[in-house]
Amino acid sequence: MVRLPIYMDNNATTRTDPRVLEAMIPYFTERYGNSASRNHSFGWEAEEAVELAREQIGSLIGATAKEIIFTSGATESNNLAIKGVASMYKKKGNHIITAETEHKAVLDPCKRLERDGCEITFLPVDKEGRVSPEQVASAIKEKTILVSLMAGNNEIGTLHPLKEIGKICKEKGVLFHTDATQAAGKAPVDVEECGIDLLSLSAHKMYGPKGIGALSVRRKDPRVRLDALIDGGGHERGMRSGTLPVPSIVGFGMAAEIARKEMEAETARLQALRERLHRGISSRLGDVYLNGHPEFRLPGNLNLSFAFVEGEALMMGIKDVAVSSGSACTSASLEPSYVLKALGVGDELAHSSIRFGLGRFNTVEEVDHVIEDVVRAVNHLRDMSPLYEMHKQGIDLKTVQWAAH
Ligand SMILES: *Cc1c(COP(=O)(O)O)cnc(C)c1O
Repeated sequence: MVRLPIYMDNNATTRTDPRVLEAMIPYFTERYGNSASRNHSFGWEAEEAVELAREQIGSLIGATAKEIIFTSGATESNNLAIKGVASMYKKKGNHIITAETEHKAVLDPCKRLERDGCEITFLPVDKEGRVSPEQVASAIKEKTILVSLMAGNNEIGTLHPLKEIGKICKEKGVLFHTDATQAAGKAPVDVEECGIDLLSLSAHKMYGPKGIGALSVRRKDPRVRLDALIDGGGHERGMRSGTLPVPSIVGFGMAAEIARKEMEAETARLQALRERLHRGISSRLGDVYLNGHPEFRLPGNLNLSFAFVEGEALMMGIKDVAVSSGSACTSASLEPSYVLKALGVGDELAHSSIRFGLGRFNTVEEVDHVIEDVVRAVNHLRDMSPLYEMHKQGIDLKTVQWAAH
């Protein structure tokens, strides 16, 4: 028997790994110093722990410890990278390139800059959610200061060709930022190999605590400079002031270390679980469509559209399973997901999509339970759908003349 409810929404957040929590506890109970206190052992101890975490996090992404700037999470990291570059490099230019499928934590800072006089290019994506290096190359112009493209997409799992895009940015002398919040620890991302100048991370997407993230800021070739968003005290080389949350940072470091050591095995295990889930569902149900790229995608992400079924209704039908639908993402509104829209998925299929986010703590038994639940719920909902009945009879719904309302 599996324990219910089943958590399968690991693209939204992850459970803190018990090993991470264990590493954090002493920094609440005994080693509670302020890492900026220079004149006693409590401060030194805290500082040492923070420096170890910087190294652990840097190692995961090929950066040095000194390049890691701690923030409150990836939302702040993205804001700091994008607004910090726009402000610091405004004499050089005011043009930024990003894509339509980015997380709101990239799109919204870009839109604010647009209102403040920057020019933003929102690149379209192909039907699997990818931006091509050629698209980036032809969008770059004299005034371009930054390209911001995510490593792995949070909804559809698609991975962008970072290495090729980074190469183009280097050739053209444009800074390259990537939001690696979803990809870090799940797919190899290396700032050297991919020519990344700025990289955003969040601990809670990789089995660490919530409320702590980082921005990796390149220190040479080129040395990237940023205008701070938060002033006071000059912590984090002046780029982000504020007392460091040492226990969270220790947890983040441990999470990065575990991810680096276990990524290969974990990727293989998650891919197998995802295949099992995908095959289990699509071998028993017709009219199921995969959203995103079949190959270049995050190992734990499976985004499926179930034709003739409302995603929200399906979620109610599998209420012991925590997943996300393609319409609920934008807060209270039932707008279909802008990411699915950008792929060219029609409104109907976008509304019928479900994101399964498999993670470290999911088991084969859970996957099998979810398959049964989904198959039962989809069949039930389709049995009640007159449209599905017509479809089964071979009527092409596109040719049906509906009576006017
Ligand atoms: C979750 C997420 C964010 C926001 O991260 P927080 O640490 O919660 O602020 C940004 N980008 C992507 C791709 C995400 O998945």
